[in-house]
Amino acid sequence: TDVLKIENLHVAVEDKPILTGVNLTIRRGETHALMGPNGSGKSTLGYAIMGHPKYEVTGGAIWLNDENVLEMEADERARVGLFMAFQRPMSIPGVKLADFLRHATTNVRNPERKEGEELIPMREFRQEMKTKMKQLHMDLDFARRYVNDGFSGGEMKRAEILQLAMLQPKFAILDETDSGLDADAVRLASQSIAEIGGAEMGLLIITHHDKLLEHNPPDFAHVMLGGRIVETGGVELAKELHSHGYDRIRKAYPEAA
Ligand code: ADP
Ligand code: MG
Ligand code: MG
Repeated sequence: TDVLKIENLHVAVEDKPILTGVNLTIRRGETHALMGPNGSGKSTLGYAIMGHPKYEVTGGAIWLNDENVLEMEADERARVGLFMAFQRPMSIPGVKLADFLRHATTNVRNPERKEGEELIPMREFRQEMKTKMKQLHMDLDFARRYVNDGFSGGEMKRAEILQLAMLQPKFAILDETDSGLDADAVRLASQSIAEIGGAEMGLLIITHHDKLLEHNPPDFAHVMLGGRIVETGGVELAKELHSHGYDRIRKAYPEAA
């Protein structure tokens, strides 16, 4: 099975060290919950895995099977099957969601494709998108809207789940996919992720709430503090932190807090 392996990862933003030695191995089919107080470095880990230029890897390694992810450009990382749903997705005015998805899907499926070459045939793409949207109980009109332009918080998250459904990445990082959603919307998101094949992916779910994990129970839960993972456990650790917060963790690892 596919394995994403992060070894002793150090990351700096604008010369400021943020991640200080992260170790994490995710196998395809596993769900990992990544928790930790605000500012502990959770999003930074996601951006570094995806190759965001602002996040400079100053040490360590990231492997997808035997391939060196750190040597890949960001678009190449998407093509080998890595995906991240951002905490604050950007809007792309003037680009319809369907067109955006058709480009992204084509690029992931035809890694050799060069800019300007043919896209997945419209008919084929629309059929597939329709099926996925139906499965997700989404209105087809939604795909005609401009990407994230005037989307509500919930709609942005739905758009990302549709993207996840179309791209079927090997590994997906969901960065607070629940932020700004009400309880019902979070439950729907959780259920949708499970329905579109989340079980076959390696999921790294960054969340402060247990609702998102309802349909995707974590095999592992990790707590990040001060730029490293200080504790790893199972679903019981996630439950503890969801109900009691991070006081125990801060006291146990004062050097990281
Ligand atoms: P979390 O997602 O756990 O809340 P982040 O990874 O967003 O934490 O942030 C970790 C630290 O890195 C914070 O101190 C934050 O201010 C800093 N940081 C992250 N991204 C940037 C950025 N693009 N520019 C400046 N500082 C950043
Ligand atoms: Mg974050
Ligand atoms: Mg699973």
